[in-house]
Amino acid sequence: MMRLPKFRYYAPRTVREAVKIRADAGPEGAYVAGGTDLYPNMKRRQQTPKTVIGLSRIPSLGRMRFGSETVSIGSAALLSRVENDRRIRRDYPGLAHAIAEISTPPLRNMGTLGGNLLLDTRCNYYDQNYEWRQAIHFCLKKDGDVCWVAPASRKCLAVQSADSVPILIALSARAVLVSPEGEREIAVEDLYRNDGIAYLTKRPEELLTAIRLGKPDGWRGTYKKLRRRGAFDFPVLSVGAAVKREGGVVTGARLVLGGVASAPLRLTAAEDALRGRPLEEEAIAAAAQAAAGPSRPMDNTDYSFLWRKEMTKKFVAAALRELQ
Ligand SMILES: Cc1cc2nc3c(=O)[nH]c(=O)nc-3n(C[C@H](O)[C@H](O)[C@H](O)COP(=O)(O)OP(=O)(O)OC[C@H]3O[C@@H](n4cnc5c(N)ncnc54)[C@H](O)[C@@H]3O)c2cc1C
Repeated sequence: MMRLPKFRYYAPRTVREAVKIRADAGPEGAYVAGGTDLYPNMKRRQQTPKTVIGLSRIPSLGRMRFGSETVSIGSAALLSRVENDRRIRRDYPGLAHAIAEISTPPLRNMGTLGGNLLLDTRCNYYDQNYEWRQAIHFCLKKDGDVCWVAPASRKCLAVQSADSVPILIALSARAVLVSPEGEREIAVEDLYRNDGIAYLTKRPEELLTAIRLGKPDGWRGTYKKLRRRGAFDFPVLSVGAAVKREGGVVTGARLVLGGVASAPLRLTAAEDALRGRPLEEEAIAAAAQAAAGPSRPMDNTDYSFLWRKEMTKKFVAAALRELQ
């Protein structure tokens, strides 16, 4: 049986208190929301914080606010709550669907949207217990100095695998971050860095407090996920797609891949292939073709990486057909 290491647990009641404790804890600290990613990682000694700051007792982080211009989802809102909210289902069905694809109902009753955005990157050589990793002398991401996926690589290639992220970027969502210095808001797209270890641009002490979405304003979005087990599995390739059409032609398109790099990947050439054209087979085929080039999965998750690359075209085309 894998046991949690010893740690000190705090349960602050306010955001201000939480960020203060986190800033004081320095590199030894970590926030925890649902704990469905952090605690298994701690049991495997992938993450070993000495101070853990629970977020579930801070009421404002669990709230969802539906304003006239924006929807603000508290970072600690449970996945099941967001997935089943009738206004989310009506205005952002692609997001509701992506969240429904995350793990299993019991885990979605525990896991939060914020925790999903900040999910650790994944790799076959990393997502193993301590003894397994020790037997291969660990890897670059934790305790070792070689990336077993590409031993010549100086950079960790662990992969971005959170289901909500590609569709949130496609929908131009924004993230609110709070630290002892104050509050700032950035595009969710700018939260990520293509580095399997330092995969977030946010500072460690910054608390993600909310995820904001603008009104749909004619945009429609969808999400497609490749995985081995239909019941539950992390994505090994995913597509978040959003399109706006006016007068029968595409006036806006945002396409994002997950599961192929350490950060979500915007497919700008594929987006360009759609703009100004009707969303019909010819434009869809051009976009799917343009998506394949930048999709360069590595051999670090389930399925062959060449097949995952090949599947990019099919999944982008399938997502766009759903938006026709
Ligand atoms: C069996 C299993 C299957 C899974 N399948 C999937 C899947 O198919 N798709 C998928 O996307 N995920 C999957 N997950 C991962 C996980 O359940 C989800 O990603 C979930 O949304 C994580 O949310 P959480 O609240 O539990 O995160 P936590 O574990 O609490 O936190 C995750 C990380 O985010 C940080 N954090 C959390 N909230 C904040 C905040 N507000 N501000 C700053 N930092 C914060 C934590 O410090 C930690 O580093 C699976 C997990 C398990 C155990």
